Amino acid sequence: MKDLEKKILQHLKARKWDNLRPSDVAKSIMIEGAELLEIFQWENLELAEVKKNKEKMEAVKNELADVLIYCIEMAVLLGLDTEKIIRTKLSFVQKKYPAKLMKKNTSKEPGTESTYWRIKKKYRKHA
Ligand SMILES: [Mg+2]
Repeated sequence: MKDLEKKILQHLKARKWDNLRPSDVAKSIMIEGAELLEIFQWENLELAEVKKNKEKMEAVKNELADVLIYCIEMAVLLGLDTEKIIRTKLSFVQKKYPAKLMKKNTSKEPGTESTYWRIKKKYRKHA
């Protein structure tokens, strides 16, 4: 990740974009996220269907790269270690949603609450 962070910082410095306000980068992340979402507007394609659709995959690659670049820009501008913050959050999420519990609760009966939502609600109450 360090190489990529360095490359992105060089990219920003070369254009004098290394003083962007975090709020502007956050807006850009969301704008690019919306462009990613737009690719799926009015559809509910399954994973395998998307993977088979070359045109859609190209569009996803482009918009996902935009989102990821802005995310890394935010991290480097704030002096955050991208890999460290991802690993820390992933570790938290792994504890919050234990794989054993999530695995056995993939299909739920109508009218029942999934384990995922039960855990999510519990954490929201304490946030
Ligand atoms: Mg874009």
